[in-house]
Amino acid sequence: MKLFLIACSVLVSSSLLAQKADTLAKPYQDDAKRIFAAALGTGQAYAMLTDLTTNVGNRVSGSPQAARAVEWAKAEMERLGFDRVRTEPVMVPRWVRGPVEEASVIGDPKLGDVPLTICALGGSIGTPADGIAGEVVEVKSFDELKALGAKAKGKIIFFNRPMDRTKLTTFEAYGGAVGQRGQGAVEAAKAGGVAAIVRSMTMRIDDVPHTGAMNYNDTVPKVPAAALSALDANWLDSLLSARQSVTVRLKLSCQTLPDVESANVVGELRGTEKPDEVIVIGGHLDSWDKGSGAHDDGAGCVHSLEALRLLKELGLRPKRTIRVVLFMNEENGTRGGKAYAAKLREGEHPIAAIESDAGGFTPRGFGVSADSATTARNPSIFEHVARWAYLFEPIEADRIKPGGGGADIGELAKQGAATIGLRVDSHRYFDYHHSTSDTIDKVNERELELGAASVAILSYVLAQEGL
Ligand SMILES: [Zn+2]
Repeated sequence: MKLFLIACSVLVSSSLLAQKADTLAKPYQDDAKRIFAAALGTGQAYAMLTDLTTNVGNRVSGSPQAARAVEWAKAEMERLGFDRVRTEPVMVPRWVRGPVEEASVIGDPKLGDVPLTICALGGSIGTPADGIAGEVVEVKSFDELKALGAKAKGKIIFFNRPMDRTKLTTFEAYGGAVGQRGQGAVEAAKAGGVAAIVRSMTMRIDDVPHTGAMNYNDTVPKVPAAALSALDANWLDSLLSARQSVTVRLKLSCQTLPDVESANVVGELRGTEKPDEVIVIGGHLDSWDKGSGAHDDGAGCVHSLEALRLLKELGLRPKRTIRVVLFMNEENGTRGGKAYAAKLREGEHPIAAIESDAGGFTPRGFGVSADSATTARNPSIFEHVARWAYLFEPIEADRIKPGGGGADIGELAKQGAATIGLRVDSHRYFDYHHSTSDTIDKVNERELELGAASVAILSYVLAQEGL
């Protein structure tokens, strides 16, 4: 009898324990675990990114490779069995680097001619065939340039303010320096300069120049602009301290051709209950022409493709539509993002958009934004995203913070969508960004997979629960 009672009590307590474990399991925890396991098990994300970066290569807007990338993405979505796979046309700028880009210090009294490692900034005009030669003046800010007054006239303006290494996030450091790249040519021309040379946007001291978008405006002449490797920027700085004057000759053969037609590539998992409520997930398909756009933003494209593939493989059919949009032309125009938002889709309502455009590194969480009208209508929109943080705890990617989104999805905020950016470890991103170093070997397979799983999980719970 005693044994029987003990046996009974063991049975009761173990079933109580099981019950307790059940109530402790929070919503979607099991789905999230399955998604993580499936993402880590197959190697498919890395295989896709390898294919894109090696068989298509880099993908500047309007280039033949960008056209091939559109075909590639459409074929991938069809292979993976997404619903309603299509391309949506958009006109994009066509800037071509051309074969010649070189710069040298010329006629140095001790060293003679010394080549510099440069590349043209995206959008720059070219130089005459024999180049532009000029004395170099170095500045760290636009204010310093203005203070030079007439001394800047006829000079090559060398912008040499480094990314601030003491900033805790590299994106903040980038934000503090990138104005030199974006507006350097305009400010140089305003000051009477003949060309702009900009220190590369990286904290690494190496001999790799980093390209990126730059602007002109109609009020001042266009002058050519190039990025200089950080190593050569430091060297040129020291040479300028040691000499009365330093002259550089810059030769660029880049040019802008007429716009060409390209496309965003779109595919989805149709919602079973509310198909007109849409969660967009995406990255940008175009890249710069240095390297092969592995982190920027092949990884973001693959995060989105793999996320939808995982949901499909696991039979997780969403109530609302989850739509992958691979945007064209983020780098030098965001025409794809604008075209996607401008196209009227009758009856459709984008409730959230998640962009991955910070590289394929270890996921840390998400940044969430919404415009003021959306927040007025739904004051707890941030909390409605942040409540899912526990799903990402197992991989320590549960930092869901206000503020985030992406260049391609910004316009969707005006249509009421919460815009969400995947946050990843940012410390190495600018080592590779927009340079020949941005290649598949810099992407860690496991980190890429965890990013894809994170996008899959958040898009799925938002598709099930709404905002
Ligand atoms: Zn990017």
